[in-house]
Amino acid sequence: MKAKKNKTSLEKLLIINDDADDIKAVMDRLPDSINAQGASQFQASCMMDKYDFDLILLDNDANDRKESKGEKTLNCIRERAPEIPVVYTSFQPGWVSQEVYQTKGVTVVKTDELLDYLTKMHGVQLKEPQAQIIKAPQVSIILSYNHIDGYDPGTYGDGKLLVISFDKRANEMAKEVAKQQLTKLYNAFDWRADRDKIRNVFIYDGLNGGTEPGRAAACLGHDARMKVNLLACTCDWDRKQKFVDSMYVDLYKVGCGGNEELGAIADVILGIKRPGRNYLPMPVEKILAEAQKFAI
Ligand SMILES: [Zn+2]
Repeated sequence: MKAKKNKTSLEKLLIINDDADDIKAVMDRLPDSINAQGASQFQASCMMDKYDFDLILLDNDANDRKESKGEKTLNCIRERAPEIPVVYTSFQPGWVSQEVYQTKGVTVVKTDELLDYLTKMHGVQLKEPQAQIIKAPQVSIILSYNHIDGYDPGTYGDGKLLVISFDKRANEMAKEVAKQQLTKLYNAFDWRADRDKIRNVFIYDGLNGGTEPGRAAACLGHDARMKVNLLACTCDWDRKQKFVDSMYVDLYKVGCGGNEELGAIADVILGIKRPGRNYLPMPVEKILAEAQKFAI
């Protein structure tokens, strides 16, 4: 016998969730034959006096140790619509209260299994997930073998800023630290695939790093195919100046250590204002602009 082809009888669907991104993610996958609407817990519990839907998807919406909002909404729904089936989602179904499980017409489903559930139990033929939209270059990279004021190494602002630094002044370890950092960065990036994502690069060039920061600037500039910003203290200035003249690099002066200036650059990138931070080694527009790119 041939398998029966699933086709959904659902026409009207309500998705209740306090996270609009979550509502959209489900809507994007539903076929056009389903008229799906979204509501926050508040809208769904206080602003609707009747529920004219074939199915309601209701999220538990309990974060941290807060009470579950979904449970309250469920009570409102059941007072006014005792019969409409409800799919109740939670990432931790074990934490959903027994009252929810025992409510008539309610099925508890793990959030990440919801779409599968709709296919299996309601014959919903899902749309393919939408392709990711390619964004303008987003990541700015700050590289220093010293510590950067206000910033431990890591990513910030949803991937907007990558800070590669050291937990203190590297001093005599500077060359070694700088070499390791560059290796780490090279392992993290697939240059051919990722270089379009890099918006700008800022590298500290002090005395202790010797020629390592300059080398890093040259490598990154070449492989990311962009003009890199070198933030250098005035020690050994002639050498730095000569190097820069022969490379595709912009040179700016900072104090020895560069901690404050590179921290201030990070603040500008993230839009953070701090009391007492008012010295910038280069113009704000230059920090925020996309680096000048070149083709090889
Ligand atoms: Zn110096």
